[in-house]
Amino acid sequence: MAQLTTACPRNCYSTCSIRVEVENGRLRRILPHEGNRATPEGACLKGLAYVERTHSPDRILYPLRRIPNGSFHRIG
Ligand code: SF4
Repeated sequence: MAQLTTACPRNCYSTCSIRVEVENGRLRRILPHEGNRATPEGACLKGLAYVERTHSPDRILYPLRRIPNGSFHRIG
């Protein structure tokens, strides 16, 4: 399992650096980064939620356009 250093992409003041565990191309775990002085105890709940969020079946993966009947149509 690979461990990588990255940063939380949310636009908040902390801009936490985090370590992530990746296995077979899938995010498995988010861990504290020892160099992060803003939140040394680790990411907040929003940051920790990336594991669920990234692999959620409800995640929108493509741009969509709403059409008049209220449904969405995939666009390029
Ligand atoms: S983990 Fe939480 S506190 Fe840290 S940058 Fe992301 S949203 Fe902000």
